[in-house]
Amino acid sequence: MEKQKTCLLIWPPLAVTSILPLSIPFLKGYLKKKQAGEIKVLDLNRRYLQHSSLTWLTLTIFLNLLTKLFGGNPAGKRFILAGFDMVAGSIAKRKRRSIAWSLDSIINAACSNFYYKENNKIYKILKHAIDDKEISLIGISAVYPEQLLFALIIARVVKEKFNKNLPVVIGGAQVTKHINQLNNKLAIKQYVDFFIPCDGEEPLLNLLDGLKEPKQNFLLKPENFPLPDFSGFDLNTYSSWIPLLASKGCFWSRCTFCTYTGSTGNGYFINTPGQTSATIKKLKKTCNASRFLFVDDALPPQFMRSLAENLIKEKIAIKWSSSIILNQAFADKEFCALLKQSGLESVLIGLESASSRILRLMRKQHAEISKAEISGIFFALKTSGIKVRATVLFGFPTETRQEARETLDFLAGNRKSIHKVWAQAFSLEEGTYIFNHPEEFGITKINYADKNSGERIGFRYESNQGMSSKERDKFLNNLLFKTFYLKSKL
Ligand code: SF4
Repeated sequence: MEKQKTCLLIWPPLAVTSILPLSIPFLKGYLKKKQAGEIKVLDLNRRYLQHSSLTWLTLTIFLNLLTKLFGGNPAGKRFILAGFDMVAGSIAKRKRRSIAWSLDSIINAACSNFYYKENNKIYKILKHAIDDKEISLIGISAVYPEQLLFALIIARVVKEKFNKNLPVVIGGAQVTKHINQLNNKLAIKQYVDFFIPCDGEEPLLNLLDGLKEPKQNFLLKPENFPLPDFSGFDLNTYSSWIPLLASKGCFWSRCTFCTYTGSTGNGYFINTPGQTSATIKKLKKTCNASRFLFVDDALPPQFMRSLAENLIKEKIAIKWSSSIILNQAFADKEFCALLKQSGLESVLIGLESASSRILRLMRKQHAEISKAEISGIFFALKTSGIKVRATVLFGFPTETRQEARETLDFLAGNRKSIHKVWAQAFSLEEGTYIFNHPEEFGITKINYADKNSGERIGFRYESNQGMSSKERDKFLNNLLFKTFYLKSKL
C-alpha cells in the first residue's frame, strides 16, 4: 500500500499578527476535502515573533493569563492584540529596515547572507516541524511583500539545511503579482521548485498526486470553495473575527488605480447566499466563533440582502462585517435595518474622494452619485447602527489642493455618520489602468527603473497638472489629517 503523503503549509512572518489568514485554511480545507493525505500547518509568523523578543513572550503570557481570568473578554483581548501588533510592527521594522522593497532587493537579501541570523532562527523553528522522512511537500503562502522575503528564506533553509530534494512551492498574491520576474530569477530557482500564481488548491493537489507539473493560473470558483480549516492557528491569540470569502474578483472591476482584479482576469464569481450562510453555520461550530469578516473586494447589495434574510430565517446569530461599494440601495433605511438585524456590524467603503471630477477619473462606481446622496447613505447606515468606515486617497494625478480640501470638508461635514477614516497617499502601481495609460492622467514621465531598485511604494512619476507628490505630502502633514482634523471631531 502506498504511503500517505504529508504536506506542510507555512504562513510566513509579517508585521501584523492579530489578523487570521484565510489562504492557508482554504488550502487545508480543500486538500482535506480531496483526501490528499495529511495536511500540517505551521504558523511561522507567530512562532518567529515568539523567538524574536522577550517583550513578545511577556505579552503572550499576559494574554493567556487574561484569557484565563476573564474568559476572553472581547475588549481586553482587543487591547492586548493591539499591543501584539505594536510589538510585531516594531520588531519587523527593526529587523527589516535595511531591505528595500523592490523585488530585486528582496531576492538579493534572501539569497545573500545578509539575513544570516534570521536564517538560523527559521532553521530552529523548522527543525520542530520538518521531519524530512515524513514531509513530502512544503507549500508557503506569500500574501504580503515581507512574506515573500521570508518565503524565499524558508525555501533556502529547507533546501540547504534539511533536504534539497524536498519539493518547495510558493504561492499567494505576491507570486501572482511577480510571477514573470520570479520565474526568470535563476538565483532563487535553486530553492523553489514551483511558483504558483493565482489559486494554489488544485496545483498542490496535483503535486501530492504525483504530477510533475502542477496546473498554472488555476482559479478556485466559489461553488468549489471548501470549508476553511483554521486548525494549526491558535484562535485564542487572534482577533475574534473569522475571515470569510464569498466571491472572487470585484463586480465593479473598473477603478483606474486598482491592482486587485488581475488574478481573476477581471472575471467575477460569487457564491450563493445559501451556501455562504451554511458555511457560516459550520464555522460557528468548528471555530466556536460568532464574528465573521468578509474579505471580498466588495459584496453586492442584492447578495447582502439574501444573506441577511437567510441568517435571520435560520436564526444564525452572528456579527459580520464587509466592504461595500457606494450604492443607492444603502440609502434605504429598511434595507439597512434588515442588515443590522442579521448582525451586520460595520462596512468599509472606498470613498476615495468627494470631488466628482476626480471620482470620474478614478472611475469609481459612485462618481455619478451626488454628495448629498452619499451623505444620505452614510446617515442611513449610521442610524441603523451600522458603523461606517471609509478610505480616502489624496494626490491622485491632476488632483488640485482645492479638490483635496473638498474631500476633507466633506468628511468633516459627515463626521457624525462616519466611525473611522483611513487616508492614504496615491501610489502609482504596475498593472493598473493608470500605469498603462499615463497620458490620460497628466503623467508625463514614469520612472520605470523603480521596478528593480530603491525603497519605494509605487513608481515615481512626473506630472504637469495638480499637486506634486511633495505638495500632497505637505498637504497631509500640514493638516495632521489622521490625528487632528478628523479624528478629534469624529
Ligand atoms: S471597487 Fe475596489 S476592488 Fe473593485 S475595482 Fe474599485 S478599487 Fe478595485
